[in-house]
Amino acid sequence: MNKPETLTQTDVAGPAPRHRTTKVMVGNVAVGGGAPIVVQSMTNTDTADVESTVAQVAALARAGSEVVRITVDRDEAAAAVPHIREQLDKRGITTPLIGDFHYIGHKLLTEHPACAEALAKYRINPGNVGFKDKRDTQFSTIIELANKYGKPVRIGANWGSLDQELLSKLMDENAASANPRDARAVMREAMVQSALHSAERAQELGMPKDRIILSAKVSAVQDLIAVYQDLAARSDYAIHLGLTEAGMGSKGIVASSAALGILLQQGIGDTIRISLTPEPGGDRTLEVQVAQELLQTMGFRTFVPLVAACPGCGRTTSTTFQELARSIQDFIRLEMPTWKTKYPGVEALNVAVMGCIVNGPGESKHANIGISLPGTGEAPAAPVFVDGKKFRTLRGPTIADDFKALVIDYIDQRYGNGAKAPESVTAAE
Ligand code: SF4
Repeated sequence: MNKPETLTQTDVAGPAPRHRTTKVMVGNVAVGGGAPIVVQSMTNTDTADVESTVAQVAALARAGSEVVRITVDRDEAAAAVPHIREQLDKRGITTPLIGDFHYIGHKLLTEHPACAEALAKYRINPGNVGFKDKRDTQFSTIIELANKYGKPVRIGANWGSLDQELLSKLMDENAASANPRDARAVMREAMVQSALHSAERAQELGMPKDRIILSAKVSAVQDLIAVYQDLAARSDYAIHLGLTEAGMGSKGIVASSAALGILLQQGIGDTIRISLTPEPGGDRTLEVQVAQELLQTMGFRTFVPLVAACPGCGRTTSTTFQELARSIQDFIRLEMPTWKTKYPGVEALNVAVMGCIVNGPGESKHANIGISLPGTGEAPAAPVFVDGKKFRTLRGPTIADDFKALVIDYIDQRYGNGAKAPESVTAAE
């Protein structure tokens, strides 16, 4: 029997080199070609409702979405697009807008030139861009308009609206072959071919490769991984990653993170969207937060200071530490849009909020600033550590506010104007 290979640190220490792709400019945002992986999101407002759509795009942009997609499904929506762009510009929000077109994109872009101009990219679904004889004409019209306005396109195949003619053809060929594959493998092949054939057709129509982004979204994690691995192996188009219909709450977050995490680790993906179903009345910006946290926890980018917190256990029966961890995390997210310009580099800050003495001091020493709260039966004192050294001990009912004030002090002294070296941040206790 062969001896199993031993995993070394270097075997697991980092992601594979990024898959080489062609850089595409979406407005002023670079996608692919080695550019940082871009976070994007999509509104769920009626695009014809200018006010609501502007408000949601602004919220998504403020949360960190670097491009935002909006539905353009009818004349009223197309007519609203230039006004949305104008309102955003007036507010100083330059985030590029992507138009999401299905079925009648060719017609809307032709009849609403201001919409075609205002958008920074058009998303086309090759599965529903027209049927039979009309397919090529309608697809060609969108590509010609994209060429006319100098806009890139995303050719986005989707499991739920897969090109049925192509699928039937591949199914027939598979049935007639000597070694037929299972139906799911044929569907995956149809997804990849649908995206690649459409991209080739776009290039035949004069669209340069540096204006084409591809996606092939499915809703099952293993299928998604297989489809994107294939897409990356067979082309060097810039790649938009996303698990479609990911679902609600933890299910959607886990499924998206599992699928996208594996692909990103393999170097695949130039822009990501986490397609979460919001809770009724829930916050749409959660999908941006999850996308950022996925990229940051995997070490690809830094967006916002991270708060490390222990899970809590029977050693800490009060809710103080959960409340403090939540309050610090929310506070950081809220302040981050201002801090980004006021405190350059603050996004790399690490804060620890720990529940008791077992791991509290150790974990807090690894953070830039950390607090070890008293567990059940421990003396009511909370040591604070700054850059690995004991700094102060907080006591009494104002521990949470006092710690927040220390975090602000630390940020101001380390990242503010005239920042001091970390070791000189206010004398230790
Ligand atoms: S640090 Fe303390 S409270 Fe937190 S999980 Fe560990 S033992 Fe439990």
